[in-house]
Amino acid sequence: MTGTLPSLGCSNTPVLKERGQREVFCGLTGIIWLHRKMQDAFFLVVGSRTCAHLLQSAAGVMIFAEPRFGTAILEEKDLAGLVDAQTELDREVARLLSRRPDIRQLFLVGSCPSEVIKLDLHRAAERMSAAHAPHVRVLNYSGSGIETTFTQGEDACLASMVPALAQTEARELLLVGALPDVVEDQALALLAAMGITNVRCLPARRSADAPQIGPNTVFALVQPFLGDTHAALLRRGARHIAAPFPFGAEGTSLWLQAIATEFGVAQDLFDAVTAAPRARAEKAIAAARQTLEAKSIFFFPDSQLEIPLARFLTRECGMTAIEVGTPFLHRDLLAPELALLAEGPVISEGQDVDKQLTRARAARADLTVCGLGLANPLEAEGMATKWAIELVFTPVHFYEQAGDLAALFAKPLRRRSLLAPLAPRMEAAE
Ligand code: SF4
Repeated sequence: MTGTLPSLGCSNTPVLKERGQREVFCGLTGIIWLHRKMQDAFFLVVGSRTCAHLLQSAAGVMIFAEPRFGTAILEEKDLAGLVDAQTELDREVARLLSRRPDIRQLFLVGSCPSEVIKLDLHRAAERMSAAHAPHVRVLNYSGSGIETTFTQGEDACLASMVPALAQTEARELLLVGALPDVVEDQALALLAAMGITNVRCLPARRSADAPQIGPNTVFALVQPFLGDTHAALLRRGARHIAAPFPFGAEGTSLWLQAIATEFGVAQDLFDAVTAAPRARAEKAIAAARQTLEAKSIFFFPDSQLEIPLARFLTRECGMTAIEVGTPFLHRDLLAPELALLAEGPVISEGQDVDKQLTRARAARADLTVCGLGLANPLEAEGMATKWAIELVFTPVHFYEQAGDLAALFAKPLRRRSLLAPLAPRMEAAE
């Protein structure tokens, strides 16, 4: 069961804004989940060997498929301006496309090196689109660590697609955000059971199914980090259905309810469709709640999922949030979440990592959610941590995954309580 609804929650809580050194992956990371979703797309990072290593090490442990991404390496002579990098890139892309006729969408992904030498990838994408149309559409976005944190890569990618979508006058629902196919199918099935069948997805699984867009399009976001995509869709005349995000039984119900209200679904039908999966979700969450109840949590800013997750963990799992850090706070998107999050935690935006580490060490929360680079040192200091990146790589949306989402947070606490009785013996043996 969820707590009573606070009227304003954290809506008016002053936000601690920090602009110092940050410890977050760059936007290239999004390629790892985007390439799995978009089956005829290819992501060509225009970057350095460092970028290639990041992708290979992140993807190497997580995928076993034919790669749909690669890196056009900028060599030292490119960086020094000794060769025409645009010509080199044209040649590289022509080679790739002749070898891979399955590619229908090509994304040129900018990186720190391409940004530093001011390589104009937008111009390159336009030139290549003209050369390879109609078989391949070439778009560009930046995943550079100078400009983006890790979930911003998906936002930049989706935002780059919006201006190229065809125009329509049809009244359609657009679901925005890359979900694993099986999870997306669950959402589509719930909506179809309510009679909402004119639904498209961005990104589509294949480019031939790309959504059209226009003044009668209404859209619902499935991820809280899609601020630029939200703005791009508004510019095309589409209207946003504001709602909490579909994490947990409550979040999923409120997200579905907002869409059902927009499409005039009768309350009886809504209740009939959602009752059983909601009950399953609540039961699954209850199992993890036994571990999470009354525990405290501290979020470093990483994925931009922090505020919706804090809402889920405090309202549905009985946790107490001490600090909820987010890289960016898009109020247009997060207002319904802030209204639900009970007053109490520090809400921080941006990062000054040393200051935040000092606060986290003082708080010594039962669980600290942070990036890989901070997790190991904090674990060594005896603090339980959760890697933020797992929350993006694991299916966690909607009713059927609500128990898994709660379990992700319960696991480090359970492991710690299982290991605790062994600790004195291990010390004695040393
Ligand atoms: S884009 Fe920048 S931060 Fe990301 S891997 Fe390449 S060099 Fe590193």
